[in-house]
Amino acid sequence: GGRFWSRFKRFAPTHGAGNYRYQRLSNDIVKGLKNNEFVLYYQPRIDTMTGQMIGAEALLRWQHKIFGAISPVQFIRIAEDTNFMIPLGNWVLETVCRQLRQWRDAGLPQIRISVNVSVKQLLECDFVDIVQSLLRQYEIDAKWLEFEVTETSILPEETLPDEAIRQLRALGIAIYLDDFGTGYSSLSWLERLDVDGIKLDKSFISRAPHHASSTQIVRAVIRLAHQLKLIVIAEGVETVEQLQYLQAQACDEVQGYLYSRPVPVNLFEEYLRGGRFH
Ligand code: C2E
Ligand code: CA
Ligand code: CA
Ligand code: CA
Repeated sequence: GGRFWSRFKRFAPTHGAGNYRYQRLSNDIVKGLKNNEFVLYYQPRIDTMTGQMIGAEALLRWQHKIFGAISPVQFIRIAEDTNFMIPLGNWVLETVCRQLRQWRDAGLPQIRISVNVSVKQLLECDFVDIVQSLLRQYEIDAKWLEFEVTETSILPEETLPDEAIRQLRALGIAIYLDDFGTGYSSLSWLERLDVDGIKLDKSFISRAPHHASSTQIVRAVIRLAHQLKLIVIAEGVETVEQLQYLQAQACDEVQGYLYSRPVPVNLFEEYLRGGRFH
């Protein structure tokens, strides 16, 4: 008996559609948006050379009434699978635009906020219109809004969000390829999409500068990106050593726990007022 169960447990799903938590979250996600259970946290983006905060990334959190604060790692998949990513993504966009407007009205310094957008959103035919009307509604200059796009393998062959990216950049919104280097075809995306920069995935950063091949990859990718006139942001910077290595490689921006975790808006406003990072 014991043998059988231990084997069964090993194969029992802990992720994905068979799991209780997954089912529960799938059931609750639509209500969650209605009940204002989603919030945005902000994580500073730092100019590598000056150490100044020059922007921030908006990161979703779901304050679930039973499970507490949940990372998007656990619910973005659900949102994508159920097409709920579209209304959720629109909520993120509007919240950021409203926030940018509030900060400006409050006399706080203006910075660029980058928003993660899924390829599914980019491929919606009215996405660019929605963005444009939000910018108009909140009277936001497009230069304060940036998008991070993660390569996905869910796309049918040859479907690329190139048209949306072209139109968004024409509006003045900078576009970054997120998690660069971890996808199936990072280089081919870089070749085929016109973007402003890349975010070098934190898995490479976490192994630099001690692990030889990760370190070489970081260096080579920064060089490649610069040859293509792209901005490079390193994510997941946790140590001074990593920072110094990235400075030596002339990486443009850094982001990570070394400076600050993603923080709720009230703490982030302290940063905007010039307060010290937590
Ligand atoms: P991402 O865009 O690659 O975001 C970076 C993730 O790394 C964030 O996790 C952030 O909290 C975490 N992080 C930041 N600094 C460090 C560090 O120094 N060390 C380590 N180990 N981790 C660090 P988070 O917030 O859990 O987000 C996970 C992913 O969920 C994001 O990965 C992004 O792909 C997705 N996501 C978050 N917000 C949104 C959103 O509004 N829309 C969409 N479509 N996706 C989102
Ligand atoms: Ca991101
Ligand atoms: Ca990443
Ligand atoms: Ca990601």
